[in-house]
Amino acid sequence: MKVLKFGGTSVGSVESIRNVKNILASREGKKVLVLSAMAGVTNKLVVITELIKAEDHSAIAHIIAELKDKHENTIDALINEPDPNAQAKNFVNNVLNNLKEICKSNYSERVYAEVVTTGETMLTYIFSTFLTNSGIQNNFLDAKEFMQVSNLENPDTNLVGKLFQKSIENLEASEIYITQGFVRIDAQHSISTLKRGGSDYSATILAAAVQAEEVQIWTDIDGFHNNDPRYVENTHAIAELSFEEASELAYFGAKILHPQTISPVIKKQIPLFLKNTFTPDLPGTRISAEIHSRGLKAISAKDGITAIKIKSNRMLMAHGFLKKIFEVFDKYETAIDMITTSEIAISLTIDDDRNLNEILEELNDYGEITVEKEHSIICIVGEGLIEDKSTSRLFELLNDISVRMISYGGSNNNISLLVDTKNKVQTLQGLNRKLFEERIMPQFV
Ligand code: ADP
Ligand code: ASP
Ligand code: MG
Repeated sequence: MKVLKFGGTSVGSVESIRNVKNILASREGKKVLVLSAMAGVTNKLVVITELIKAEDHSAIAHIIAELKDKHENTIDALINEPDPNAQAKNFVNNVLNNLKEICKSNYSERVYAEVVTTGETMLTYIFSTFLTNSGIQNNFLDAKEFMQVSNLENPDTNLVGKLFQKSIENLEASEIYITQGFVRIDAQHSISTLKRGGSDYSATILAAAVQAEEVQIWTDIDGFHNNDPRYVENTHAIAELSFEEASELAYFGAKILHPQTISPVIKKQIPLFLKNTFTPDLPGTRISAEIHSRGLKAISAKDGITAIKIKSNRMLMAHGFLKKIFEVFDKYETAIDMITTSEIAISLTIDDDRNLNEILEELNDYGEITVEKEHSIICIVGEGLIEDKSTSRLFELLNDISVRMISYGGSNNNISLLVDTKNKVQTLQGLNRKLFEERIMPQFV
């Protein structure tokens, strides 16, 4: 079994949906398809959740009418037989009528999840009906039956596997299963999400659950690039990455993969391929345990970082001090990304600032606190990077870049810099010039 995930732009128009069908038709074997919502739809649904809070029901009705048109037009363009056409429209109308009812409730996390996941529900049904109408047999699955993920960081893939088998056992045998990305059932048995961009994570959880032979993530670019193509020109696709390299890059902001995507497939050693739906014959990127090339690979950036400095004269190297500081973050379930210490101060970064006020209040007992928001972590990644002597030349870069913190040597394959987000693009471009154009650190193979 292979798991194939198609993202928003891959199912964003009639033409791209037809491309997806051709990709499937040219590949043999059993497949589970994990699909996102049509491009732009989830953003609109998120706007609806804001309008629920504001109780702006006429604006909600307006967006729902737009979504109805968009999906009905897609159905008309793809499904010409009258019966399946009517059946798909009926399904979409039921989903949207249900959405209207939900929008009358008070805002809650459950309401948020119910609303934002409807894009996936509509698109998967349309796609399944389109395939059937084109003579390609397939089974439509409701991911809520099996995507039980209580712990977002550490999903129980065995449980998901058992539930998946149960939901397919009474279905007609078929080569293709179609299901929704993004949605999950949480520890309270309530509908929830895997966070924005979470369909990538749905695909790897499912791949680990069914012990798939491989996962393919199909998107709108020809693989994992060496730098963020949204900010830097002349980036290129990387032929292969190790699981560790890809995890660091995804965790530290490479938008092409949801931050948690890699962990389920590392455990089961399932290779992951990144492919372009619009140029399917290009090789894309292979992410696996086999590394054939070492050295510098890529740079990514994660925004929304808050730096916290705790300065204390009585303190730092006294044993037990760091423990107390970490306990505060642990109490508020807030992960720390970077950390540096000196004799009288400790600086660390977090990306989840939901409990920042409570954390700062408690840290006040330990010293003088300074907080700097709107920073970005720039992450330079490559297997064995730290072992390469030329890495020291990286410090030449610091002449041009204003860096707030550096993390070097935490792992063999990652160097992280904390910069003010205002300087992020300039830093990414500067690093690209030095590292990939002037090649001050030659990539070693
Ligand atoms: P999908 O909707 O298919 O999930 P995304 O928009 O989430 O697609 O991810 C693909 C986009 O990620 C690319 O179009 C590109 O702009 C962006 N991106 C950011 N960093 C990278 C990178 N290092 N390599 C490739 N794409 C990247
Ligand atoms: N549709 C969801 C989002 O836009 C999930 C995804 O595309 O991965 O966040
Ligand atoms: Mg994505």
